[in-house]
Amino acid sequence: MGHQEEEEGGEEYLFKIVLIGDSAVGKSNLLSRFARNEFDSQSKATIGVEFQTQAVEIDGKEVKAQIWDTAGQERFRAVTSAYYRGAVGALIVYDITRRTSFDSVKRWLEELSMHCDTAVARMLVGNKCDLENIRDISVEEGKNFAEEEGLFFMETSALDSTNVQTAFEIVIREIYNNVSRKVL
Ligand code: GDP
Ligand code: MG
Repeated sequence: MGHQEEEEGGEEYLFKIVLIGDSAVGKSNLLSRFARNEFDSQSKATIGVEFQTQAVEIDGKEVKAQIWDTAGQERFRAVTSAYYRGAVGALIVYDITRRTSFDSVKRWLEELSMHCDTAVARMLVGNKCDLENIRDISVEEGKNFAEEEGLFFMETSALDSTNVQTAFEIVIREIYNNVSRKVL
C-alpha cells in the first residue's frame, strides 16, 4: 500500500446495486432493514426512496453501495432504463410464499440483461423465509434455479433480519473483487 495513497485517504469505492422483483416481495423492506435496520409492515408500494447509500468494510476498505429501490414502478412493468443504468450488482427478489413471484424471476433476469452487461453481480433472493408454514417454493428449488442461471442464492427475512446483511454483503464483495481484478 503506497504512502501517497494513504495521504489521499485511500481509494473511493461507490457501487450501484438495483433491487428488482415483483411488487410486494419485500424489496423496500430488505433495503430499509439493511440501511436503517427498520421494518414496515404497512409499507405502501408507491412510497419509497430512490436509493440509499450504505457503507460496508471489505478488506479494511470502506466500500459504499448505492442501492436503488423501484418505489413501485414494477407494478406497471415500467422500470425505466435509467433505473438500471450503471448498475454493477442486482438482487432479484421473490417471495417464498408466492409462486408467481418466483416464476417472474426469469423475466426480471431478461430485463436486467437487456440493460446491464453480463458482468453484473447477481443474487437470487427468496424473501419472507419467516413464513415457513405457508412456504410455496422449497429451498432446493430456489437453489437449483440459481445454480442453473449462475446466480448467488440466499433466503432472507426482512421481518426477522435473517441473512439480510449477508445477502447485500456477498453482492458488494463480489463487485469489489471484480473491480480489484480489473485494476490489478
Ligand atoms: P416491495 O413491493 O417489493 O417493495 O415489498 P415491501 O417491502 O413493500 O413489502 C411488501 C409486504 O410484505 C409488506 O406488507 C411487508 O411488511 C411484507 N414483508 C416484506 N418483507 C417481509 C418478510 O421478510 N417477512 C414477512 N412476513 N413479510 C414481509
Ligand atoms: Mg417497494
